Amino acid sequence: FPARLGTGEKSVWVEYIQLVADTKPAVNLGQGYPDFHAPEHIRKALSKIAISENPLTHQYTRGFGHPKLVQNLSKLYSPLVCRNINPLNEILVTVGGYEAIYCAILGHVEAGDEVIVIEPFFDCYEFMIRSAGGVPRFIPLKLKKTCGTVTSADWILDEKELASMFNCRTKIIIVNNPHNPTGKVFTCKELMFIANLCEKHNVLCLADEVYEWVVYPPNEHIRMATLPDMWERTITVGSAGKTFSVTGWKIGWAYGNSKIMRHLQIIHQNCVYTCCTPIQEAIAQALDIELAQRTTPKFYMEALAKELKPKRDFMVKTLTEVGFYPTIADAGYFIIADWRNLARRIDLSTEKDKYKDYRFTKKFSKECGVMTIPPSAFYSPQHKHLGENFARFCFIKKDDRLSLAAKLMKEWS
Ligand code: PMP
Ligand code: GLN
Repeated sequence: FPARLGTGEKSVWVEYIQLVADTKPAVNLGQGYPDFHAPEHIRKALSKIAISENPLTHQYTRGFGHPKLVQNLSKLYSPLVCRNINPLNEILVTVGGYEAIYCAILGHVEAGDEVIVIEPFFDCYEFMIRSAGGVPRFIPLKLKKTCGTVTSADWILDEKELASMFNCRTKIIIVNNPHNPTGKVFTCKELMFIANLCEKHNVLCLADEVYEWVVYPPNEHIRMATLPDMWERTITVGSAGKTFSVTGWKIGWAYGNSKIMRHLQIIHQNCVYTCCTPIQEAIAQALDIELAQRTTPKFYMEALAKELKPKRDFMVKTLTEVGFYPTIADAGYFIIADWRNLARRIDLSTEKDKYKDYRFTKKFSKECGVMTIPPSAFYSPQHKHLGENFARFCFIKKDDRLSLAAKLMKEWS
């Protein structure tokens, strides 16, 4: 194996998706995707495009983003970041948020550069950094509260520790906000603290904001790019999959100042070059509709969070009744729950994995029929123990699926 493949061999997604295929659990609350339909207008748009008389609909489109899509993304985000985003050089359309993150890292990190990563982190960051020759520096969020109701806000970023990690080799800090898997919504104070460090040490911020719309009031999503002087040093990542509940469409984007976006364009033009035209056109048409109903209750991105809130509440209640200790998610569609109170109930000695949460999630799925994700996958090797007592439950599922999961878990406990 070339050395750069180093940490990338094992993937929790590859392993657990195969596990689902092999073992067919009754309810799959693992990988994060909805099991219900995206808004009708976006699916209809794609079906019309598919049978369009215009042959060019099915040919390559502009490499950095289909013209109508980048125009509409500019219309969507410009008011949100209080500036006119140039659709031609400040937005790049990518194969999901995933590719946007890779382009940002590969486009900016040089050998020996350090990248600060907040744990738990979306697992691919580490591989992406290392394969660019960079050095990830990990800082875990700490769950400060150990009794009573715990919410995402109880996962704390230690400011002193963070400040001590910045140095002259630091190139990027990745801030996933809202955060997968804790659901943390970074406060203005926390973001300002990070922004000031970026400014002081001339560091870029890679703001992975793919869950930007799934925020439960009174929490509010603040875009890093809107903080003073941060537009110049922030690359913000979004995802059509998350925005429109079409994760299989795998279109995402990055936006930011043209000088820093140029680096991403160069990576993109030499590996992917251009993304799927009909899908981009369908997302662009969906944005036409959403922009027109932006201030109405029909606006899908806000309607989705409203639809998800009762599911979150149901999941928290169920997990608590079963004996888990869940963190109530302020955003996103995952709940991480401490399973230690159930340790007596389950014999993990038959499972061979190194980390307890892998053993727990596998045995739990076998015994109870509910598949979840082991959060230690979201930690660096030195901090995996911090994730071992948890399991991650995805709750963007139909109510009958969640009810079935509740029934199975209650019977099991
Ligand atoms: N960042 C985070 C935190 C995620 O959870 C995901 C998974 N959706 C992505 C990025 C990648 O998004 P996409 O599916 O658009 O590639
Ligand atoms: N972001 C989703 C999750 O966390 C999907 C991950 C993936 O497909 N790699 O579950």
